Amino acid sequence: MARDFYEVLGVARTATEKEIRSAYRKLARKFHPDVNPGDKSAEAKFKEINQAYEVLSDPEKRKKYDRWGDQWELADQLEAAGARPGATPFGGGRDPFSRGNGMGADPFADFGSIFETLFRRERGGPRGASGSRRGQDVETPVEITLEEAFHGTTRVLNLQSPEACRTCGGSGEIAGAICHACEGMGVVTRPRRLEVRIPAGVKTGSRVRVAGEGRPGIGGGPAGDLYLLVTVLPHARFERRGDDLYAEVDVPVVDAVLGGEVTVQTIDGRVALRIPELTQNGRQFRLSGKGMPVLGQAGRRGDLYVKARVVLPDRLTPEERRHWEALRQLRSASARV
Ligand SMILES: [Zn+2]
Repeated sequence: MARDFYEVLGVARTATEKEIRSAYRKLARKFHPDVNPGDKSAEAKFKEINQAYEVLSDPEKRKKYDRWGDQWELADQLEAAGARPGATPFGGGRDPFSRGNGMGADPFADFGSIFETLFRRERGGPRGASGSRRGQDVETPVEITLEEAFHGTTRVLNLQSPEACRTCGGSGEIAGAICHACEGMGVVTRPRRLEVRIPAGVKTGSRVRVAGEGRPGIGGGPAGDLYLLVTVLPHARFERRGDDLYAEVDVPVVDAVLGGEVTVQTIDGRVALRIPELTQNGRQFRLSGKGMPVLGQAGRRGDLYVKARVVLPDRLTPEERRHWEALRQLRSASARV
């Protein structure tokens, strides 16, 4: 069962956006994989924090989460269906969208239960009147960088696909004896590589659906789907909020005072930013359309917000010093007027 997102971030349910952001930043810094190399529990914690933040930092998602808890992603469907929070939307069966099912990297880790089901039926068990059943959905985590989320990327998954045993032709026996190749199951698993495309614009918590690559159906039913649960790793330079990016840009004090132009490193190249005169430290500029791509909307992008960080010179030539001195005298003279 997933932990409560508020609990994960250690904030109250009434926390403001600002409180949530600051709690997230503190935790993300502490559990960042770069700070905890090789520490699996920190890594898991880090993912959990990102998942929680992805939802709680987005007012729309947060509202759904507050109402529907773990089922928040299905809020629209649930509400359309007239469901009420607290009811089980999937009538008894395992919730196919539940998080943290412990699958780890092997999406078919508990494949054994399918074998058992098949086996029991092959051996003359009652063939249910309902007949076929759709296979379960499977979720597997992937981590990508912000650049990968920007351009879109691919991941190769190593799956174990079931197929009929060739030795016995799927019957599970050869001349009355149990087939040793499949131990009487009639089915063997075969390793298979599957390349999955992750589209540009995905966020932490996004699910990429790979149709028909979940668990096989029972009795001729269709296979379930495979979902890649995306975590976008934090970036050294950019902070992402929704589709917008936030960064800082150094502005030499002379340009901040007199106005000028600085080069901003965006996620896909450099652009010139005009600095108006008397730009105060911390002033924010919006670079429209220089943020992240909007998932599923080709050509649309969020914005990039850059905050001016006015930097002083770290050394002065004697001549520069004379000019600053002259400036000081000028200013104190004008202050006296
Ligand atoms: Zn066999």
